[in-house]
Amino acid sequence: MSETVQTDCCSAAADTKKPLATIEQTIERAIGLCAPVEGTEVVSLAQAVGRTAAFDVISYLELPLRDHSAVDGYALGGTGTGPFRIVGRTTAGETAAKRLSSGQALRIMTGAPVPPDTEAVVMQEHATVSGDQVTADFAVPAGDNIRCRGEDVSSMDTLVRAGARIDPRHVAILAASGYQGLEVRRKLRVALLSTGNELRDPGVGMGPGSIFDTNRPMLQALLAEEQIDITDLGIKPDKRDVISACLAEAAEHHDLIITSGGVSVGEEDHIKPAILDAGGRIESWSMSIKPGKPITLGRLGNAAYLGLPGNPLACFVDFLLVGRPMIETLEGRLAFMPSPQNAIAAFSWERRAGRREFFPATVVDMSDEGLPVIEKIGRAGSARLMPLIEADGLGVVESEINSVEPGTRLKFFPFRTQMML
Ligand code: AMP
Ligand code: MG
Repeated sequence: MSETVQTDCCSAAADTKKPLATIEQTIERAIGLCAPVEGTEVVSLAQAVGRTAAFDVISYLELPLRDHSAVDGYALGGTGTGPFRIVGRTTAGETAAKRLSSGQALRIMTGAPVPPDTEAVVMQEHATVSGDQVTADFAVPAGDNIRCRGEDVSSMDTLVRAGARIDPRHVAILAASGYQGLEVRRKLRVALLSTGNELRDPGVGMGPGSIFDTNRPMLQALLAEEQIDITDLGIKPDKRDVISACLAEAAEHHDLIITSGGVSVGEEDHIKPAILDAGGRIESWSMSIKPGKPITLGRLGNAAYLGLPGNPLACFVDFLLVGRPMIETLEGRLAFMPSPQNAIAAFSWERRAGRREFFPATVVDMSDEGLPVIEKIGRAGSARLMPLIEADGLGVVESEINSVEPGTRLKFFPFRTQMML
């Protein structure tokens, strides 16, 4: 790590002289402050989405459970086109009919177990019936239209890996394998605090200098995408002793404390001294990105600590880049680096090189090679929210770039609305 920032030098001068940490360095430090939580519980499949598998889940069955017909048609007791004599009829849910001998056929429906010695199933669209005889329109290859026992899942296959975030795909394969639930890690306990004299919740005495608290509800909503126990610590004024007492208390029974506001180096920014007063330690506080440069990381009591900037867009970006990996680490998840996709700029932009810059963007087209072509949304600023509402994701300009032209290749982090699952 090129830069280790100590806590005794939090002045504006020190902050600007120090080289800023890259996003990668910051994430590495942030996850270094987190360890997977201990403790598990068994949950039903209906409750499992968003939880983390505590152990590998192994299949004790084969899927399909037996040989099934993949189509409506005729199970044939031989190769060639026939004719075959139709000796019966079987549908899904019935037990496999008795053996088919050569020259015999069985009317069969999709999902019905095929009888032993079936060579193939011919689709009804490719068969001609006359009386009790069926003739295939062409010689059906052996095994055609049969879903074979075990071709999807073998016994002892790993269905879900320890550390997987359970999503509907896992629910599907577990359900097909006869599982009603699985063992997951216990829910994370995360405390959320907003700091700032100006902040109010609706209905609580707006004064001439007040604004509504945006970050706490936004962070609650971001956390609601996971199954997390959230403690709302409310809004605290810019008072070092008040913040310190609140965080010291929260540190005892949370895995992660997230605050917003007060992380830069202004006279009313009391977060860092408050953490130190509470007996915590601070690891880092400036990241080479825009928006979202001021960020504080640390530990306090039993909890990891993440201090996000007050400007809502900066708070949002830093939560996604740094907060998510911290949560994934606490969850004991497998992979947690969000991976951007390649994209192509539809816009021109002259900017000052130096920090990697994130901007709300919309997908306006697809390039010939199938990449999203993105447009930067108007005048974005770290305090603006409207561009986020219009955006399909966040575009990224690397730190050394000072000019973007239509056709420039960029990275793009699509929002969930752009994704399939
Ligand atoms: P700070 O990080 O405390 O210096 O705040 C930077 C800017 O973000 C200021 O304009 C604050 O008023 C604003 N801000 C801080 N916290 C919030 C919040 N929870 N919701 C909306 N704006 C905030
Ligand atoms: Mg403030």
